[in-house]
Amino acid sequence: MNIGFIGLGVMGQPMAQHLIEAGHEVFLHRVKDTSQHLVEKGGIPTGTPAEVAKAAQVIILMLPDTPDVEAVLFGPEGVAEGLTSGKTVVDMSSISPVATKDFANRIVEQGCAYLDAPVSGGEAGARAGTLSIMVGGTSEVFDQVLPIFRHMGKNINLVGGVGDGQTAKIANQIIVALTIEAVAEGLLFASRAGADPAKVRDALMGGFASSKILELHGERMINRTFDPGFRISLHQKDINNALSTARSFRMSLPSTALCQELFNSCAAQGHGELDHSALVKALETMASH
Ligand code: NAD
Repeated sequence: MNIGFIGLGVMGQPMAQHLIEAGHEVFLHRVKDTSQHLVEKGGIPTGTPAEVAKAAQVIILMLPDTPDVEAVLFGPEGVAEGLTSGKTVVDMSSISPVATKDFANRIVEQGCAYLDAPVSGGEAGARAGTLSIMVGGTSEVFDQVLPIFRHMGKNINLVGGVGDGQTAKIANQIIVALTIEAVAEGLLFASRAGADPAKVRDALMGGFASSKILELHGERMINRTFDPGFRISLHQKDINNALSTARSFRMSLPSTALCQELFNSCAAQGHGELDHSALVKALETMASH
């Protein structure tokens, strides 16, 4: 199948590589030096998003945030200008569910289909092709795109209608942020109380406090290795989407708001480009040494 891929960053590059290696014709927007290897593997550099949409049957986006998706879809020389009826847009970025519904309506008005399909699993999951993919849209379109998703992910679920994939991703980001905060607080407490946090982490790994976050992010906190990973600035964006979406139906997210303040404090201290496990740095500034 002809596939367009727009957004060749940390996640998009390995995801596009899986599609190329699976034998699809993949049209790539904005190939830079860092993504040149995709062309050597058979990816086809293509000009504007509109040209990608003309060339491809399924157009995948993997962009940072809502305004980026809007610009690529509906801006000058955007995807919408190149679409003809029967094509499918699949947004795998993590963005606002409210904006997603609006984008989908505008694409469907052009006689095309739309899925939101954000992912979890990080760069490691993208490289291994084992991402969790949370999809919103109709079951008919989901079934058509499923073989493409299978090259990039393992746990692939149609959650509900358009926007519900993004809602699931926000729930994921709330749970991950709160768990990072809990792990950071627990390990920092252990350290300040005089225990070895590495030994405490090992001791907790078999019990109810055990989690992937305790395992991976706990290790990063102990070893002080905060290379992304998943940048604090991206998690701030997801939590902003969580808080503004919750506000739209008058829901309070008190612990999520606290995590946002901790991420904000990290970013204000110049740590916004570190891995989100660096949230522990904000707690350290509040603790005695
Ligand atoms: P990234 O910043 O590494 O990559 C984004 C890419 O989009 C960059 O290559 C950038 O050049 C490109 N881009 C931005 N605006 C563009 C435009 N107008 N036209 C064309 N290209 C444009 O980000 P990432 O880490 O790959 O994340 C992408 C999305 O996936 C985000 O929504 C993020 O929240 C989500 N996500 C990331 C991770 C992770 O671990 N990094 C995990 C799960 C989900």
